[in-house]
Amino acid sequence: MQINLLGARVDVVDLAGAVERIAGFVQSGIPHQVVTLNPEILYRAQREPALLSLINGADLVTADGVGVVWAAKVAGTPLPERVTGIDLMLALVARAAAEGWRVFLLGASPGVAEEAARRLQEKHPGLLVAGTMHGYFPPAGEPEVVEMIRTARPHLLFVGLGAPKQEQFIARYKQALGVSAAMGVGGSFDVIAGKVARAPAWMRRMHLEWLGRLIREPRRFKRMLVLPRFAWLAWRKARSGRCGRR
Ligand code: UDP
Repeated sequence: MQINLLGARVDVVDLAGAVERIAGFVQSGIPHQVVTLNPEILYRAQREPALLSLINGADLVTADGVGVVWAAKVAGTPLPERVTGIDLMLALVARAAAEGWRVFLLGASPGVAEEAARRLQEKHPGLLVAGTMHGYFPPAGEPEVVEMIRTARPHLLFVGLGAPKQEQFIARYKQALGVSAAMGVGGSFDVIAGKVARAPAWMRRMHLEWLGRLIREPRRFKRMLVLPRFAWLAWRKARSGRCGRR
């Protein structure tokens, strides 16, 4: 089932459900794009029709962040839970190790994706890493990066270039990449590699992960100003009854 939130389709799935859907994508062998949708991107998509159609063209869209879960609740179309990029990636990596799926990590500063892959293999000794590549290449270098991934033939591609750059990269090259499941993961490689700490568990439980990030990375303040605007928009739209089940 899906809901329509501010014009964007969001799938009604929890973490386990998202993993199952992606397992189906892997079995199909056909390219699929997964988007973990956060309030910043959904807000931006209100002004960028191309971004909104990218979201609506994805094969699975999960609610990344309490803001999206809250907005869905206010609209009367609740979602079971938030499914963030990092949580979904970690769950998929565990599944990949068990199933023998190859994973490719693209993004972050040089060395970070390798270190993240090393730590993931330490935790899941059977994990097959098809390749890693940093995320600082010029637009002219994209075809070469795509070719590198295509020939590595991963089942899962995690792209950490920041949103929406990573979603745009995947959408642009979805067919050329030929990867069964590709998804953006933001700064997850930095967290997995131990370069950036995640908010403590108690903060995450209290839905205060955003506050933990703000304390650690004050430069995010400007970006976070969009959250109250998003909340206001979602509330207004819900009141006028324009959101609802598809
Ligand atoms: N990044 C990258 N290439 C770029 C810009 C950013 O690989 O051209 C990486 C950056 O090093 C970081 C991630 O993308 O690892 C962005 O992390 P952030 O937490 O800002 O993601 P967002 O919250 O924007 O999705």
